[in-house]
Amino acid sequence: MSYEVFARKYRPQTFDDIVGQTHVTRTLKNAVEQNRLAHAYLFVGPRGTGKTSTARILAKALNCIHGPTVRPCGKCDNCREIAGGNSLDVIELDAASNRGIDDVRELRDNVRYVPAKGRFKIYIIDEVHMLTKEAANALLKTLEEPPKHVIFCLATTEPEKLPITILSRCQRFDLHRIATNLIAQQLHSIATKEKLTLAAAAAHAIARGAEGGMRDAESMLDQLVAFCGEKIEEADVLNVFGFTSQQMVADFVGRILRGETADALALLHEQCEAGKDMMKLMSDTIAYLRDLLVFKVKPDALSDEPSTETRA
Ligand SMILES: [Zn+2]
Repeated sequence: MSYEVFARKYRPQTFDDIVGQTHVTRTLKNAVEQNRLAHAYLFVGPRGTGKTSTARILAKALNCIHGPTVRPCGKCDNCREIAGGNSLDVIELDAASNRGIDDVRELRDNVRYVPAKGRFKIYIIDEVHMLTKEAANALLKTLEEPPKHVIFCLATTEPEKLPITILSRCQRFDLHRIATNLIAQQLHSIATKEKLTLAAAAAHAIARGAEGGMRDAESMLDQLVAFCGEKIEEADVLNVFGFTSQQMVADFVGRILRGETADALALLHEQCEAGKDMMKLMSDTIAYLRDLLVFKVKPDALSDEPSTETRA
């Protein structure tokens, strides 16, 4: 069997598989259970946080032969076709590459035909803010009066670029950056299934580097396996991606706070010479200073935050 990247192999298949977005999945599950579906949903959030995965799972929940159900079986033809991206009733359009009026017209002509096999036709339009103005207007016409068998799932990283007329016709869900510890947990779970030895500090370093995106974290793990095989240590992560260790960031901040400017500059120089990512070092430093401030004001506040680890 050919190699399948982790982000694809471990793509969430049920609402419960989606990490860190229970505020979204709970609402959608209720909507499916109570049969209170909107005609158009808008999923907003940074890249790799689960927008199109959520849309596909909703499609399975609605079109599974045992459905509508909040637990699509994953085994029937409909479920498998949707997961494989070849269901006739789930039409995915990437608005980044198909952004013109003709693409939306084709979609509009297609909308009126009843579903081939499932109960609903689900249109998933990714990066919907990329549509041209004319295309967005054409889409709006369809959103205003969609046939009963049609559900739109729009996804975007930049909702502020969408016309208000489209926004106002969608039920909006905001997906959040995923907390570092949740990403680390998912990486450990993949590592176990793949029989990899992933050090805890390594998982956290990847998770911090992914900045809330699960897909990025999983791609980084792919890259690490290619680079160092089955055993992954924190040092490997720092080397491969040019990250600076937490300890180094703490040293750097310590030197600044003690007024040891020359030493702080020397450390920066070393890191730069070692090929470290200076932008990442800067954002790590800001995050560390912010944690110090919070700690000073309310020492127990940091442990309440899902995204920060306790730092020695
Ligand atoms: Zn099914």
